[in-house]
Amino acid sequence: MAELKRVGVIGAGQMGSGIAHVCALAGCDVRLHDVEPPRTAAAIAEIAENLERQETKGKIAVGAADEAKARIKAAKTLGDLADCDLVLEAATEDETVKRAIFAGLKGVLKPEAMLASNTSSLSITRLAAATDRPERFIGLHFMNPVPIMKLVELIRGIQTSDETFDMAVRLVERLDKQAAVSEDFPAFIVNRVLMPMINEAVYALYEGVGTVESIDAAMKLGANHPMGPFELADFIGLDTCLSIMRVLHEELADTKYRPCPLLAKYVEAGWLGRKSERGFYDYRGEKPVPTR
Ligand code: NAD
Repeated sequence: MAELKRVGVIGAGQMGSGIAHVCALAGCDVRLHDVEPPRTAAAIAEIAENLERQETKGKIAVGAADEAKARIKAAKTLGDLADCDLVLEAATEDETVKRAIFAGLKGVLKPEAMLASNTSSLSITRLAAATDRPERFIGLHFMNPVPIMKLVELIRGIQTSDETFDMAVRLVERLDKQAAVSEDFPAFIVNRVLMPMINEAVYALYEGVGTVESIDAAMKLGANHPMGPFELADFIGLDTCLSIMRVLHEELADTKYRPCPLLAKYVEAGWLGRKSERGFYDYRGEKPVPTR
């Protein structure tokens, strides 16, 4: 298969922006689409700032930021992704949303184009079945923040072809990342282990075992975690954390995955973490302040 020239990214949130950033740096033309066009514009501006910062710090070659910036363009509609060799879906972690996107792509992409999802938890086999090319569909699960984190989980659906898997392996290498292959089980490897830990921290808070600060300090100093569970949950997005716990709970049908009601309450309040400036910490001031 020829090298990927043009990559479409759907969803210009934290993950879509990061994926667009690394693909452009690796020499791909990128078309970034979001259902809310102002988000695409904001993401392109933020990617530019991040690229410039990387260049100033000497992390990328002189001139690489300008070259990468020139490769990223907004796609107003899904139709603008028609000439992409690969489309990576990184929209909200909600199966209905993702299915609607795949329905919208039917008949748009060229027959040989590949499709991937950055889902954190949903069945790749089931998402593949909602597309017009299940054999050319794969789970490519990047970590946040994408420009920094080395890992990409690769998840084959039952229908994924060897050619599609090989394309994903080559892309991960080209992006200078490392792949870990996971079977298509709910939440794959990283989130199968990580999310129950975060959810347990929320239960500990809910039951009054400790405060946000004491639990974060305990896990950083006592378990040598670089971030406490609440700092990390706010960083990931509490809506994403809750969606993943719901998928684990429903699909593995085990009460040990029951999402903590306090996590649901934060999401219902719209306190989604850093992206909405409030979660387990309030980020609106100079320093993050615990909200409990
Ligand atoms: P986010 O909330 O930052 O961004 C989601 C974006 O998707 C928003 O800009 C939203 O407007 C857009 N969107 C929603 N519906 C859409 C549609 N129909 N068409 C186009 N765009 C649409 O979320 P995120 O953290 O970037 O997560 C995106 C995906 O990546 C999810 O599947 C999530 O599980 C996965 N993921 C997240 C993390 C993380 O740490 N946050 C890590 C790995 C994977």
